[in-house]
Amino acid sequence: MSQVKIPLKNGTIDFVDLATQQKKIRSELDLAISRVLDHGGYIMGPEVYAFEKQMSDFCKTKHAITCANGTDAIALGLMAKDVGAGDAIFVPSFTFVATAEVVVWFGATPIYVDVCEDTYNMCPESLNLAIKTARDLKLNPKGIIAVDLFGQPADYDAIDIIAKQNNLWLICDAAQSFGATYKGRDVGSIGDMTTTSFYPAKPLGCYGDGGAIFTQDDHLADIIKSVRVHGQGSHKYDNIRIGMNGRLDTLQAAILIEKLKIFPKEIQARQGAANYYTEHLQDLVSCPKVLPNTTSVWAQYTFRLPKSVNRNELMTKLKTFGIPTVVYYPIPLHQQTAYKKYPVAGLKSLPVSEALAQDVLSLPISGYISRETQDFVIENLRDCLE
Ligand SMILES: *Cc1c(COP(=O)(O)O)cnc(C)c1O
Repeated sequence: MSQVKIPLKNGTIDFVDLATQQKKIRSELDLAISRVLDHGGYIMGPEVYAFEKQMSDFCKTKHAITCANGTDAIALGLMAKDVGAGDAIFVPSFTFVATAEVVVWFGATPIYVDVCEDTYNMCPESLNLAIKTARDLKLNPKGIIAVDLFGQPADYDAIDIIAKQNNLWLICDAAQSFGATYKGRDVGSIGDMTTTSFYPAKPLGCYGDGGAIFTQDDHLADIIKSVRVHGQGSHKYDNIRIGMNGRLDTLQAAILIEKLKIFPKEIQARQGAANYYTEHLQDLVSCPKVLPNTTSVWAQYTFRLPKSVNRNELMTKLKTFGIPTVVYYPIPLHQQTAYKKYPVAGLKSLPVSEALAQDVLSLPISGYISRETQDFVIENLRDCLE
């Protein structure tokens, strides 16, 4: 097969192209940054509150509370729910480490739940088993942190039923999925709380660290706002609970305000790019599936390779063509050095998480990837696999 020739910048494709977006809005960003330098309100300046209002409007959720990063966002949620020793918190094993890390910070026990074969998100049956495991271990089942992996919301109807039956709260870790929808509901408006991250490579990213937590619950919102500034009470030097310094910088908020304006268009472009990959690869690999009446923001385009393919060799070969690929995630949490001491649902193994770690691969995607670039990726990948 003849290979498509495209003019590659520096001879390679960016795995996440942040430069094209910056070029597009650079003058707006410069102005936004200048305004902050002019007013000097670097901490909790007006842009922070303006951005929070825009975020709550965007996902139709009463409270959007910004914070320092997506990990702190989950921590703030756990602090608001008073998580501590003896509590069992249910987390998927196939996720970024932060989801389980914060549980351990508070002395609670993460219990790893397996994920679904086709969506890579928390499996409701495995969740039921994990709750039984917690009880068998004499732990107190307290809450669920579901993850919207690679940009697609978890199956919240199924998870919600289990949460209600077992009197558990639900935090949605939407670090990868802000902007997506689940059966007509916006990510941010689901569960007791939703957390997100503005790490630069996330679908909505700033130029540093940033995060947010969303809730419809006034009481939770009050606690989160207090914990975000050292457990502050009625005034700055009144400390009514243990908290942290979890604030978002004003500069990052100013940048995010500009990026949020073009975010809906970028989501559409990401969805178009993902569909294009699927259209041209589905006969060769196991492409990602989105639940009915649900959308993904495609933080990653991640598919599964056939068993016969040597993933490392494939990645090396694609790299020689200037095509970067990444494995998210090569080791599930229940097999990570620092995390394997915590129990898995059913106390045996998590076969789907383990299999995914062996055969997933992520391709370059962003709101700015061109069809030419995608054709180049597709043709070379097909050549390697055929
Ligand atoms: C990125 C990410 C986080 C952590 O966000 P940071 O802003 O990097 O702290 C948490 N959970 C998931 C699923 C993530 O992808």
